[in-house]
Amino acid sequence: MRDGMSIIKSYTNETEAQIALEYLKALDITAVIEADNCGGMRPHMDLTCGVHLLVAGLDCEKAAAVLKESPEQSDAQPWTCAGCGENIEAGFDACWKCGNKHLGKQ
Ligand SMILES: [Zn+2]
Repeated sequence: MRDGMSIIKSYTNETEAQIALEYLKALDITAVIEADNCGGMRPHMDLTCGVHLLVAGLDCEKAAAVLKESPEQSDAQPWTCAGCGENIEAGFDACWKCGNKHLGKQ
């Protein structure tokens, strides 16, 4: 079943992998999730313990490009508060200093 498929990304939890899988499916890219339980079944692939996303060889490049520009990742950018000019770290929706909401997402 895994013939010709390669791991294009690894996740630390299955939920994240599932989201990516659905994302790829929507784009007609065949992908499967393989959970790694660190049991040492595949020693050469056990560098990263976690959940792996596998894609067929032909779709690998496409899938990698798609995942690179997935919305959740582009959202995680630091931003500058329009209210007070404070630099806010990625992941915050509002300014910790003045409470201004992050409206102008880039
Ligand atoms: Zn602010």
